[in-house]
Amino acid sequence: MKILVINSGSSSLKYQLIDMETESVLAKGNCERIGIENSNFIYKAHGKTIEQQVDMPNHNVAVQLVLKKLMDKDVGVISSMSEIDGVGHRVVASGEAFKKPTLVTPESMELMEEIKDLAPLHNPAAIVGIKACLLEMPDTPMVLVFDTGFHFTMPDYAYMYAIDYAHYEKYKIRRYGAHGTSHKFVAQEAAKYLKKDLKSLKIITCHLGNGSSITAVNGGECIDTSMGFTPLAGVPMGTRSGDIDYSAAEYLAKKEGLSVSEMLNYLNKKCGVLGVSGVSSDFRDLSNAANNGNRRAELALNMFTYGVKKYIGAYAAALNGVDVIVFTAGIGENDDVVRSKSLQGMDYLGVKLDEKKNASCPRGVIAEIQAKDSKVKILVVPTNEELVIARETMLEAKLG
Ligand code: AMP
Repeated sequence: MKILVINSGSSSLKYQLIDMETESVLAKGNCERIGIENSNFIYKAHGKTIEQQVDMPNHNVAVQLVLKKLMDKDVGVISSMSEIDGVGHRVVASGEAFKKPTLVTPESMELMEEIKDLAPLHNPAAIVGIKACLLEMPDTPMVLVFDTGFHFTMPDYAYMYAIDYAHYEKYKIRRYGAHGTSHKFVAQEAAKYLKKDLKSLKIITCHLGNGSSITAVNGGECIDTSMGFTPLAGVPMGTRSGDIDYSAAEYLAKKEGLSVSEMLNYLNKKCGVLGVSGVSSDFRDLSNAANNGNRRAELALNMFTYGVKKYIGAYAAALNGVDVIVFTAGIGENDDVVRSKSLQGMDYLGVKLDEKKNASCPRGVIAEIQAKDSKVKILVVPTNEELVIARETMLEAKLG
């Protein structure tokens, strides 16, 4: 059983072919700069990476290239397209139109068109990617897997915004969250690792990457999450502001003469740790700068870790305690200083880090980093969003 996972961006298409018997990646890569000059095709398989400058004027050509490479005599991993049993498409925003993974059909594609503007950068790109795959593989079952899917178990008092209820009903403006596949995966992995029933655990999952979100997971179900209607809300991120008083945004927009969409572009792309530090959105650059005495880089890091800590505290309250705190994604898996600072001063909760274990935490495997007398387990769990998408695709398409 082989599932192809597709993650389409407006000018990119990431792909992974996963063997579901072993849940291992057979081949993966990225089509970069689709529709732009100097498109780049990256293909990794058999431990080798191939990078080619190929003209990719649109997503159709990109999908053709991917399939051709997967079936290539020398570097391919399958001999015919029929070996691909299903395709899972990552979709960023679902609105309330889709509450679970859904088969690609003319009806579901119509609904996808209707919710396009919920994520104007991402959802239209997903539609283009799906259509490109349908052209090449019209008979292969395809499934839409949403970043928001895991969060639909939130109670109404957690997902509602305090706005006129009529506007919620009319426009479905509410908290949806994001990174759902990652939060779900690492919560499941944590329970498996601890040999505990997921249903018995209160877990706080911290997905800290370029975009960051924190989720409260009670008995395997999301009860609250830090991102909102879009991924702009929550902790400060690489380039996103995170939570901000909207009046401040209006004040700034007026002062700088920015339209609403220019303001949102600013809040999404020019703020966060990049905006505060003026150095970079990458935490490796930030910690180098902070270590070299850059005060604004240090401030950005402090704001980030303080933000994470506040959400952990809030979610411990929402969960009435916490059994496990999980760190995942680029920063969560790799940055021991961020983990340590985010958990400082939490002894009242029974959260105690073993600083040595934290600093020498191995990469790419699950690691347990709490002190011996910590009441709360602290785990670093590598995320695997593509595997969740592939699993959901198998389930929804009733494969296997
Ligand atoms: P992600 O969005 O999960 O791919 O995470 C990307 C981010 O992880 C990058 O922007 C970096 O800030 C961060 N990152 C990756 N590797 C490291 C590392 N070794 N140390 C600190 N931060 C890292």
